[in-house]
Amino acid sequence: MKRRHLLAPGLLAVLSPTAIATPVAAPLRVVASFSILGDWLREIGGDAVRVEALVGPDADAHVFNPRPSDARKLAEAELVAVIGLGFEGWLPRLIKASGSRAPMVQASEGIQPLKGGHGHGHAHAHDLDPHFWHDPLRVAKALHTLRDALSRARPAEAEGFARRCAAYEAQFMALHAQVQAWLAPIPVAERRVLTHHDAFAYFGKAYGVQFLAIKGINTEAEATAGSVARLIQRLRRERVRAVFVENISDPRLVQRIAAEAGATVGGRLYSDALSAPGGEADTYLKLLAHNASAMATALQRKPS
Ligand code: ZN
Repeated sequence: MKRRHLLAPGLLAVLSPTAIATPVAAPLRVVASFSILGDWLREIGGDAVRVEALVGPDADAHVFNPRPSDARKLAEAELVAVIGLGFEGWLPRLIKASGSRAPMVQASEGIQPLKGGHGHGHAHAHDLDPHFWHDPLRVAKALHTLRDALSRARPAEAEGFARRCAAYEAQFMALHAQVQAWLAPIPVAERRVLTHHDAFAYFGKAYGVQFLAIKGINTEAEATAGSVARLIQRLRRERVRAVFVENISDPRLVQRIAAEAGATVGGRLYSDALSAPGGEADTYLKLLAHNASAMATALQRKPS
């Protein structure tokens, strides 16, 4: 990174003392591992940060293949933000290759994680489930961790970060209450949802929904024919009506399973990524609202 002189020596003389006393700093360069984390950092950081996410909209962060441009983004970063809990397995090598010395903040720090393997996937008992972003209460804790990391990196903006963080948190705690209200009419015993991979256990814990999944907490391992057959039987037996494809995966396996079980696909859930800008879930708040209202609608559908 080249250092440039901010002012030509001759220019100093003509600037008023106030202009010199209040220099406008360039935005803090922050790199987030994936789109949802990037959105949180933009909300807290405002104009004082410039955030880039490595894994973009609708992309699967479990199986990401970094490009050379990703190493360049890291090399220029002043702060790197990750989820942790084994989510970004590809990141340590990329950071090493980039030569980045930027401080790193782990958004899951201090969060009570769930263990993997609660669904019908192949996760080992020692695997921790990284998908805490589907529980707004845990996200509130993560926002404080991110706010503090931004403030350490840019102390002059700490007040603004704190103010923006509090305002943002108030917005999604209101949404949290809205989600509870949407699901309230549905008997807890009927709240069963099938998704492609086991990404929604935190949502399930927060809102009393039971999730079935074709794959485990990671999207890498393929589902076996036997596990798919057992899942179809279970969908029929338990009359699961809410079946969803995910924005990060090929919808065909879910569609086939739904067809064989006599269920209808209730739409798309945004599991591990935002939608593209302008889409129906291009912010975390829209993602949470979309997922919850789509599930509530599908669960209230009368069996055919
Ligand atoms: Zn996932």
